[in-house]
Amino acid sequence: AFRPAARLGSIGVSQILRITAEAGARKRAGRPMIILGAGEPDFDTPDNVKEAAARAMRAGATKYTALDGTPELKAAVAEKFARDNALEFSADEITCGAGAKQILYNAFMASLDPGDEVIIPAPFWTSYADIVAICGGVPVVVPCGQETGFRLSGEALEAAIGPRTRWLLLNSPSNPSGAAYGAGHLRELAEVLLRHPHVWAMSDDMYEHILYDGFSFATLAAVEPALKARTLTVNGVSKAYAMTGWRIGYGGGPKALIAAMAVVQSQSTSCPSSVSQAAAVEALRGPQAIVAERRVAFQARRDLVVKALNAVEGLSCRVPEGAFYTYADCSGLLGRRTPAGEILASDTDFCRYLMDTVDVAVVPGSCFGLAPFFRISYATSEAELTEACRRIAGACAALS
Ligand code: PLP
Repeated sequence: AFRPAARLGSIGVSQILRITAEAGARKRAGRPMIILGAGEPDFDTPDNVKEAAARAMRAGATKYTALDGTPELKAAVAEKFARDNALEFSADEITCGAGAKQILYNAFMASLDPGDEVIIPAPFWTSYADIVAICGGVPVVVPCGQETGFRLSGEALEAAIGPRTRWLLLNSPSNPSGAAYGAGHLRELAEVLLRHPHVWAMSDDMYEHILYDGFSFATLAAVEPALKARTLTVNGVSKAYAMTGWRIGYGGGPKALIAAMAVVQSQSTSCPSSVSQAAAVEALRGPQAIVAERRVAFQARRDLVVKALNAVEGLSCRVPEGAFYTYADCSGLLGRRTPAGEILASDTDFCRYLMDTVDVAVVPGSCFGLAPFFRISYATSEAELTEACRRIAGACAALS
């Protein structure tokens, strides 16, 4: 029989993928499912980006490329960091991989020894803890509830740091909470990090461009330049340009770290896809208007969902600053009884109840390290969101 490696431990395929797959199967079987599980914009990749990819293919960009990014892509990434974040990086301080996920993976693989700790504020994107664990590290999860706006405080960071801490992993705006850190919040964390020179910071800025109400984006290495020498700033084209399938992410950080990450990449994927890299150059350098247009559409959807959820007795939903997720508290419903006579004991039970009775798929907070909540991904049409919220309200009203 097959014996999996010990390093996989109890890590399974992501529960989000499992829920999405189950809902997809029900939909194909004819159920009127509304699937609000996956973290993927419903928009298409912009045409100028597709055209750039087609041109690149015709011009012969179909071979292996430089290990961690073509010179053109690295230049476009350097321009992006300078333009949007006031961060200056040279080519050997930039790395490109098959999605931001691979950048995170390369960084942890390149830096963690068994037992090294990574501080992860919860709720967090599920993959963080699993990647750290696969790489031999120990996730140190710090719960950051609704009362702190789902943000890590300086005090909580200080308390979590120990002699084995290697990294603090920050994500703003956040998947799953939508919470964002302003420059003031980051300043508070920077003060703590400055006192602990052995702790590095990873800033996952994937949802940088999806911010509402004029909230202005901030990133740690820019807020405190003294931390730039021990910060990896991670970003990608998946969410900003609706390019999840192209698999291009990138990072900017100290040269020695970037070189170590290249070693990992050289023995896994060799390089990101040549065609996708050409497409990403166009995404980063081409017209940016589409990013703002889509932000407006996302904001209308956010407002619709937050308002509808807060109108339901037993649910409470903070207004998220960014990303395309709401993270609603369902503690007010726990202990109630379903029409079938079952008691809802957890957010997982609640999500299962929604899936089984009103054909709505959402993800329980226990997947993200902070319960009892549930995440709605509102990267879908307003019509679908309105109908989903109507069904959720009906399901909640039917509880006794
Ligand atoms: N970081 C966060 C917070 C995400 O939510 C995701 C995708 O869901 C990623 C990184 C990875 O994106 P990609 O690998 O497509 O660049």
